[in-house]
Amino acid sequence: MHTRFSEEDIAFRDEVRAFLKKAWLDNTELQAKVGALSTMREGMIEWQKALNAQGWIAPNWPVEHGGTGWSVTQSFIWDSERALAGAPSVMPFGLIMVAPVIIAYGNDAQKAKFLPRILASEDWWCQGYSEPGAGSDLASLKTKAELDGDDYVINGSKIWTTYAQYADWIFCLVRTDNSGRKQEGITFLLIDMKSPGVTVRPIETIDGFHHLNEVFFDNVRVPVENRIGEEGKGWTYAKSLLVHERLSIAEVADSKRGLAEVRELARQEVNGGQPLLNDPLFAKRLTDTEIELMALEYTELRALAAIAEGKEPGPESSLLKLQGTEVQQAVQELRMDAAGYYSQTLQGDLGPDQLGHAFADYAQKQYFRGRASSIYGGSNEVQKNITAKYVLGL
Ligand SMILES: Cc1cc2nc3c(=O)[nH]c(=O)nc-3n(C[C@H](O)[C@H](O)[C@H](O)COP(=O)(O)OP(=O)(O)OC[C@H]3O[C@@H](n4cnc5c(N)ncnc54)[C@H](O)[C@@H]3O)c2cc1C
Repeated sequence: MHTRFSEEDIAFRDEVRAFLKKAWLDNTELQAKVGALSTMREGMIEWQKALNAQGWIAPNWPVEHGGTGWSVTQSFIWDSERALAGAPSVMPFGLIMVAPVIIAYGNDAQKAKFLPRILASEDWWCQGYSEPGAGSDLASLKTKAELDGDDYVINGSKIWTTYAQYADWIFCLVRTDNSGRKQEGITFLLIDMKSPGVTVRPIETIDGFHHLNEVFFDNVRVPVENRIGEEGKGWTYAKSLLVHERLSIAEVADSKRGLAEVRELARQEVNGGQPLLNDPLFAKRLTDTEIELMALEYTELRALAAIAEGKEPGPESSLLKLQGTEVQQAVQELRMDAAGYYSQTLQGDLGPDQLGHAFADYAQKQYFRGRASSIYGGSNEVQKNITAKYVLGL
């Protein structure tokens, strides 16, 4: 963003930089923890606790519940500087997804019980929306909840549940009624993952990691007090959560950093005796992606400005998700092309460090992992449908 920051904003930027230096850039131990899947949970909790101690953990929350009250410019500065430092964002499931729903639709007891624990990263959350027969057509979900005294009894299963293996809690869409429109019999429940009858099974993905899971519910008892809002109104709450989820997927600042790295790599990598950046086709793709990213940044700033004025983000979040993930994938493809044949799986004793192309290993992992971004949070085809209907009015 080409903008003139006020003196106050410059002071804020300096404060952000000082914090990032101390809490992230100089903390190589924490970086290593976050970078390895086996210690990622512990590392992310440590990072989030540092953010919370600074009062910067929840920029998207209202101030009275612990939000930062930042202006659009301050949010922009924070995110740009964070991405520039290579520091992670936060785990979205508690802070970005379920918390705004609890704030908007939960009762006082639920707010008092869950929000402070989310701020302090005491609980790890996961998202129980998708089922084997209910992804894009989410309202077809079948996981059943039957009232028995003061409890719902849950039977069914969820799939593609990110990091369920670490989770203390899952927010779930369940079916409490089959009689009307399929959107009408859905209820939003908060379920303790330690409840008897909950089983988590891993799904390994093409990048070789274990992020995803199936979650099975076999006569799991959930107290009625863990229901958000009214029975049968879960679809409304679920949709508001998806808007927050989609905004967080755009990752504009991270793409900016990624693209700058690719430009630098293309200066160094040689293709046919010339720096790759001299290849007009590669340079054009790089520039096209930069232009897309710049346009995306302004769309994001418009959405942030609306939120700062107290408006709920609307279906524009679908545009951001769509464009944001297309740019992410374009950056990943450029990085793969810059890595060339070094990006193929490295086998045997020679690792990427010995071969002198450490970035190629990262390029390949990011590329494979990145295939999923146009699927999760609602596939990009579905975002086009939403945009056509609610933004363009077609
Ligand atoms: C890495 C990853 C992490 C995930 N994490 C979670 C999680 O934590 N919790 C959770 O609940 N879910 C999660 N999901 C699930 C995700 O939300 C679904 O995969 C997604 O909504 C698509 O549903 P589906 O996989 O059933 O595909 P389907 O709905 O079967 O779609 C298959 C294809 O058909 C297309 N399609 C379907 N309907 C239409 C239509 N009406 N118009 C045009 N095209 C259409 C889709 O775009 C897609 O290309 C995750 C998925 C991935 C890949």
